[in-house]
Amino acid sequence: MINWNRIKIVATAGPASESYATLKKMINKGLDIVRINFSHGTYEEYKKTILLVRRIEKEIKRPIGILADMPGPKLRVRGIVKSIPVKEGSIVIITKDTPKANNEFNIAYPIILKVLKPGDNIFISDGKYIIKVVSKTKKTVTCKVIDGQGEIKKGAGLNFPEVDLPIPAITSEDFRHMTFACANGVDFIGLSFIKDAGDLKKVRAHLKIIKAKPFLISKIERRAAIANLKEIVDSTDGVMVARGDLGVELPIEQVNILQKEIIKMCNSLGKPVITATQMLESMIENPSPTRAEVSDVANAIFDGTDAIMLSGETAIGKYPLKAVEMMYKIAKTVEPKIDRSKNIDYLEKDNLLDIISKNVVRISEVYGVKGIVVPTESGKTARMVSRYRPNARIVALASTERVQRQLVLPFGIYPCRIPKHVNSAVVFKLTDEFIKKSGLFKKGDKLIIAAGALHKKGNVSDFIKIMTVA
Ligand code: PEP
Repeated sequence: MINWNRIKIVATAGPASESYATLKKMINKGLDIVRINFSHGTYEEYKKTILLVRRIEKEIKRPIGILADMPGPKLRVRGIVKSIPVKEGSIVIITKDTPKANNEFNIAYPIILKVLKPGDNIFISDGKYIIKVVSKTKKTVTCKVIDGQGEIKKGAGLNFPEVDLPIPAITSEDFRHMTFACANGVDFIGLSFIKDAGDLKKVRAHLKIIKAKPFLISKIERRAAIANLKEIVDSTDGVMVARGDLGVELPIEQVNILQKEIIKMCNSLGKPVITATQMLESMIENPSPTRAEVSDVANAIFDGTDAIMLSGETAIGKYPLKAVEMMYKIAKTVEPKIDRSKNIDYLEKDNLLDIISKNVVRISEVYGVKGIVVPTESGKTARMVSRYRPNARIVALASTERVQRQLVLPFGIYPCRIPKHVNSAVVFKLTDEFIKKSGLFKKGDKLIIAAGALHKKGNVSDFIKIMTVA
């Protein structure tokens, strides 16, 4: 059996990692999904990264996911050439016009200046600097730095946790980016700052028009998304616990509690979840992480995360390879210690897929099987099996490249391909052939084959088969 990681690793591409050589090394060290942050960069740069990943994927013969992370209505410091030096008490001005003085900047949605009022706090760079509105004119909002010392840089993120922003969660820019990303074959789309299921509905309507089926990752990072968590998790394909913005939009001391609640809900509904942001933050500068960071990654794994993510560590850090290597080591060491017994109690819904996935995992534990082989059309059966965190490897057999790549994300799934099939009889023939020829299994290995509702209109094939490799 191949030595792959059951906890999946996502890393953000950026100036520190987007060369062919570095990307390939990161992938060889265990990276599963490359995240492209559409907040920074150009279409030309994104396309180059996509093509490199696809080239490496072909060379190493392992599917690699690409996550295009949309900016959403994230406001950033714009219009400055030089960083703005600040300390407590400094005055900073947000202007509608082109900044003139060296303490002025502007933002993409000047309409926000209208709703800001004296007393509102604005968080810059995930709360590194906090500024408070002190006065305003028709064209400017004057703020005083109440916390933080250093330099406010061009592109720094802005959060307005106390303000109901008059801008949509999915912006026209996001729709344009999605069209570009899908046309270039990305597998996952990250949706920033979504607030409810209605936002997902709008995205799905757009994807229908452009005839694309990316796996939608809803980033949970604002108060409204927490309030509407259940409807979002029900409607999305996957989730990201976006702790950077979450820890600014809500009190930072609540982030760990929210992380646990979000992950638990995702696990129970079979929605893969990524835990993100500052996981090994100190590795941006240092070759090894702090004890607390390693412990944070381990705890996310114990919470039930499917994937762990690197952001600045690989995008702009000095040690992108070491950061991936460290994530891999932590995951490999911690994952076998997950308490699997607690996952077996998910509410069993009254449908065949739930019952099959639950019992497949039960049988696999009792019977000591090596692999759970899941021919799957949409990937759903494999994901439902994955939520029970079996010890056995889940070998998903997808009939399209898209589903194969999307199955890179959920815990424990090793996604493979079988040819496109027309009915259940063919699926099972192809599955038998795969088991014989793939080299993944040896004689005497116990396996379970599980399939849920394949070809609904044809032969019903919701079944579990237990076999020993001959
Ligand atoms: C976050 O806020 O934690 C996050 C992952 O989003 P971004 O990096 O796009 O700010």
